[in-house]
Amino acid sequence: MDVARTIGRVLLVGGTHGNELIGAYWVQQLMQQPAVVQRDSFETLLLLANPKAVAVNRRYIDQDLNRCFAPADLQNLELCSYEALRSRDIYHQYGAEGKTPVELVIDLHSTTANMGLTLIVDQHPFNLQLAAHVQRSHPTLKICVSGQASYRRTSLPALCALGCTVEVGPVPQGTLHAELFYQTTQLTQTILDYVDQWNRGKIAPPDLPLTVYRYGTAIDYPRDAEGHLHAMIHPKLQGQDYQPLHPGAPIFLTFEGGAIAYEGSAITYPIFINEAAYYEKGIAFYLTEKQQIQL
Ligand SMILES: [Zn+2]
Repeated sequence: MDVARTIGRVLLVGGTHGNELIGAYWVQQLMQQPAVVQRDSFETLLLLANPKAVAVNRRYIDQDLNRCFAPADLQNLELCSYEALRSRDIYHQYGAEGKTPVELVIDLHSTTANMGLTLIVDQHPFNLQLAAHVQRSHPTLKICVSGQASYRRTSLPALCALGCTVEVGPVPQGTLHAELFYQTTQLTQTILDYVDQWNRGKIAPPDLPLTVYRYGTAIDYPRDAEGHLHAMIHPKLQGQDYQPLHPGAPIFLTFEGGAIAYEGSAITYPIFINEAAYYEKGIAFYLTEKQQIQL
């Protein structure tokens, strides 16, 4: 693996989306008692990523901050939305050439979908091993592997090669949820412990194959030419994140009561079903492929 050196700084991020309160509240609480997330072998920095959006309890002010980290956008000084400015500030502080560059990012999110505890990572071997290790302590954890290069390049964790996004749900936007808040804190502590053990050279390679859900196509709602919805998530699909969806099974229900079937040719495992923030992105859910990978 090409992570030869010690990880010196970890960035723990909440409030990338201002109405996802679990991460936003926990990071602000940690700013009062940062020792909780410190380890001897590295420094943990804390970031409330989109403070203006948190203050008004909205996902963002002008645009989604978690799509503002494309290298070309960070260099483009003509972009001047609040989030474009914010992403440049974050990059100049924590990016590779920044004042306090970080080697690993943990970005805390929540979702309105029934995702339980989810870790989203890319294919970097370190990130996959981290996910496998964390799953041992949290057996219900699901691991999603982002195959979308564009997401990986534009999201906040793109600040550095190592890291992950934590997603917990279902929790409505703009609300807290005590059990999921607690699980987020426990999951994060496990990740920090892993980094500490890595730095001490105490990591044993995982022996079992890892089950992952690999991102595939995004499916949009049926819409008319003006973009208005023609149908809703079908009741039989609602809340069925990570459950197998078979060809021919209903996925949408029209307002007249007609079912619309999944027309794919293979079993898929949908995630982010009916995520509130994705209506404007044209995404009703993502298809994923369930895979076993040997690390
Ligand atoms: Zn989010």
